[in-house]
Amino acid sequence: MKKQHWYEYLWLWPIGYFTLGLFNILFAWMGLIDFLLPLFIAVVFGNKAFCNRYCGRGQLFSLLPRKLNCSSWKPAPRLLASPLFRYGFLLFFLTMFGAILSRTYLVFQGTVSLRETVDLLWVFSLPWAQSHSTGSAPAWIVQFGFGLYSLMLTSAVIGLIVMALYRPRTWCSFCPMGCMTQLICKAKQRGKPEPPKCIPPVPTAPHDDGEKTTQVN
Ligand code: SF4
Repeated sequence: MKKQHWYEYLWLWPIGYFTLGLFNILFAWMGLIDFLLPLFIAVVFGNKAFCNRYCGRGQLFSLLPRKLNCSSWKPAPRLLASPLFRYGFLLFFLTMFGAILSRTYLVFQGTVSLRETVDLLWVFSLPWAQSHSTGSAPAWIVQFGFGLYSLMLTSAVIGLIVMALYRPRTWCSFCPMGCMTQLICKAKQRGKPEPPKCIPPVPTAPHDDGEKTTQVN
């Protein structure tokens, strides 16, 4: 019987994250791990081990269709994996993250008041205030939690939609974190004698179902 590794259960991470955020928005800060860890691994080790092994979201997108048969398994439009779309989406994503930081700063300064809503798909505002407690946390801490939770939820919903419409890991073809780590890997490989090779020779990830999940140009 195949030995199970701890990281094969990281699909529980996004489920736990969104569940805890329902009860206390301060747990949303844990989303920074999903931002910083892939970048750290790419910068320090020059590889995409996070995508290949440690990404709970990627695992979840692989697991759900297998268990619930909720993906069409159709090839996604090529546009979604094109550099134009990937970099455009990355830029948009970073702009939205910048807006979160900006609002957090304004709340910290006292220029604007705390906005206790979770924004879904940048359009729908979900009232959240009654359903959680943040104790005596400073307003800017709470504001950043709302912003980050909104961004995480929105990207997860987009990922679930494309998972259902196309192949399970379609999100990975334009995922901003995958795109950024890809750029870092390529930059680190530049000038080295060997051809660019971002994906390390790690064993095949448990969630790897044979799809091409990230771009290696
Ligand atoms: S591309 Fe994004 S969602 Fe996919 S495995 Fe990498 S970090 Fe996770």
